[in-house]
Amino acid sequence: MTKNFSRYRRDSGAAIASNDDTQRLIAASQRLAAEVSRMFSPEPDIADRHYWLETMMNHIPDYIYAKDLDGRFLIANQATVTENGFREAHEIVGKSDYDIHTLENARHFEQAERRVIETGEPIFGIEELNAVSKDERWLMTSKVPLRDKQGVTIGVVGISRDITDRKRAERLLLGQARLLELIATSTPLSEFFNELILMIEAHLPSIIGSILLLSPDQRHLLTGAAPGLDSAYCAAIHGIAIGPKVGSCGTAAFRGEPVFVSDIQSDPLWEDYAELVRPLGYRSCWSMPILSYRGQVLGTFALYSHQPGTPSVEQVDLISMAAHLAGIAIERRQSEERIQFMAHHDALTGLPNRALFDERVASALEQARLTGQWVALAFLDLDNFKLINDTLGHHAGDELLRVVASRMLACVRKSDMIVRVGGDEFIILLNSLPPEAGVMLSRLEAIRAAIGAPVVLAGRSLQVSCSMGVVCYPEHGDIAAELLANADSAMYRAKEVGRNNLQVFDAQMAAKAHEKLRRHEELRDAVARAEFVLHYQPQMNLKTGRIFAAESLLRWQHPERGLISPGDFIPLAEETGLIVPIGDWVLNEACRQNKAWQDAGLPPIVVSVNVSARQFKERNWVSKVAEALEDSGLEACYLELELTESLIMQDVVSAVATMHELEALGVHLAIDDFGTGYSSLSALKRFPVRRLKIDRSFVQDIPDDADDRAITGAIISLAQKLQMQVIAEGVETQEQVDFLAASGCDDIQGYFFSRPVAPAAFVSLLAK
Ligand code: C2E
Ligand code: MG
Ligand code: MG
Repeated sequence: MTKNFSRYRRDSGAAIASNDDTQRLIAASQRLAAEVSRMFSPEPDIADRHYWLETMMNHIPDYIYAKDLDGRFLIANQATVTENGFREAHEIVGKSDYDIHTLENARHFEQAERRVIETGEPIFGIEELNAVSKDERWLMTSKVPLRDKQGVTIGVVGISRDITDRKRAERLLLGQARLLELIATSTPLSEFFNELILMIEAHLPSIIGSILLLSPDQRHLLTGAAPGLDSAYCAAIHGIAIGPKVGSCGTAAFRGEPVFVSDIQSDPLWEDYAELVRPLGYRSCWSMPILSYRGQVLGTFALYSHQPGTPSVEQVDLISMAAHLAGIAIERRQSEERIQFMAHHDALTGLPNRALFDERVASALEQARLTGQWVALAFLDLDNFKLINDTLGHHAGDELLRVVASRMLACVRKSDMIVRVGGDEFIILLNSLPPEAGVMLSRLEAIRAAIGAPVVLAGRSLQVSCSMGVVCYPEHGDIAAELLANADSAMYRAKEVGRNNLQVFDAQMAAKAHEKLRRHEELRDAVARAEFVLHYQPQMNLKTGRIFAAESLLRWQHPERGLISPGDFIPLAEETGLIVPIGDWVLNEACRQNKAWQDAGLPPIVVSVNVSARQFKERNWVSKVAEALEDSGLEACYLELELTESLIMQDVVSAVATMHELEALGVHLAIDDFGTGYSSLSALKRFPVRRLKIDRSFVQDIPDDADDRAITGAIISLAQKLQMQVIAEGVETQEQVDFLAASGCDDIQGYFFSRPVAPAAFVSLLAK
């Protein structure tokens, strides 16, 4: 196994350091050069000076020496003598670096000294690597020219300081910084572990690092990284179960604390593994658990050595540091994986979400293209899910979605995909199907059957059904967007024919979808060309027989087909959102018309305008109403807005808030088609509503139908109790009028009195 330490080794011709060490070294080397040259020019107190100087030099731990022009030692202090393997100073005198160091080192020193001699320029504080023994040594060195009295250079003086410890600490810090950078840049874990181990090994030569990871079941250790450890040994311990007597790592992971074994061959913890290790020669193994931020064991970091023994304080620090860094990296990876999962999965069911589906579907189709197999795509929608949510509560609804998801998953293969795309909507993707409709259908029907099995929710056993719209590649489209659009049409059809069924896309649906698209475009053009008109149907007070209001009812003046009633285009307008610009026009036009009648001197009446849910939910809806009033100059009390129960019940809290804002404008509110939706009586009490409009369907069979009579009577008395006015819609006969009058109904609207009519006709009605 070759190890690559080069990353952690700096070149020996290192940069000039700029710290205190350097400054001191510079000053000392200059003083020394002066002293040494004086020594060679005898003066009266020379003996004393010589002695002091020698004593001083020998007490300094730095290496101090002077060499002649040929690089031979003239003098050296004791530290230099000892470091180079001599005992007495005279032993080194006359020797050169070539007698002492390796060829490479000696050349390197010589080069530097030559430069000083030739240029006369000193070198200060360079860092040098000196391999005197096996251990590498770092020196910080200054070299200055040695000159005689005449100023002629006669050699060099050098001072070196051992900065190995500082260098090691520095290198460790750099290594840590680099490792943190690797964590920050999301380097793959195995790569990070290798770097970590190599850094530690570079710092502690002849020691081998290993990282093991705790398996997801928290019971086994799996190989993380061990670039220097015998690979057969790594393979042998991969997957080992942790326990109270499983070597150093298995035990450390089990206990959650460090286990430092000084002799593998005699330690009882290694009893079962000593033979495995014997041929490899590992003698000590110090293992530290890698812990999460919360203290859970994530794995182990261990150092093996061929020598028996316990770790030094420095080694324990290093092991802790390494385990700590490994922990940060593992946790960071785990949280990245969690985020990644969350971005691609639905939190409630754990199923993939639409984003992941979009990523995968193209490759599924590509695969099918090559193999000639089929891919099935099915939209699935639970029937009446909203009802379950509303009656049993959201918890039960959530539980149902989870149950349904897991039942679906149980029906498909790993290569298939089930995606949750909305509340109770799913997409099923079945891969690699044989090109037979029968196989595809039986697999999908199996899913429907699984969903339909009884489920217990909130203590009640119930059954849910679902509707499916199905397409398959290559039959129904080439690309995902086309297939999905067609699956949507098939789903539409499944809902249309009464839910609880599966529809495969066919040509007829394609035609219908086309037709719908065409109608959408036509309606959009109608908006642009302002092809709409309003008709008005009077509302009459039963006591006075007077018209007090008119409901504005929309018609589409189609250039070819003539007048089209709202029932034929409003649903499409709602579905496509075109109802918003259309509704804006209605509101403005009704206000304008009413004000024009008032200005023409007709008796003032209220105009009522139907509001769709889409409009009502618009954020600026209230201000649009205010603007319509302002632009037309109509007083707010002459405008009534008709809302439906289902519109309000979609989001009662915000609906009530909006209703209050409208009420504050001075506008009146009515509940249209009352009795056909469902609004709780307690909620109804809180609505700032002036009028209930009894739906036409209850009035229709009066007086024959006893139920309708009862319902109508009940609504009238409810309105009276809540101090609301009540108007009956769709009144066509005298009998109906009589019944309503007798039941205390205030007002009526219907063909009995007048059909909805164009503005001009309405004027003559009003004038009467
Ligand atoms: P609605 O608001 O309940 O309007 C009453 C509907 O009942 C009108 O149908 C009206 O012509 C019809 N009607 C009135 N008296 C009688 C009667 O005695 N017998 C029978 N059989 N029908 C009667 P229309 O005009 O076809 O409108 C249908 C629905 O379209 C309206 O029901 C309303 O929901 C919607 N609508 C109409 N105009 C607008 C509008 O400007 N905006 C919105 N969002 N919806 C509108
Ligand atoms: Mg209405
Ligand atoms: Mg109505």
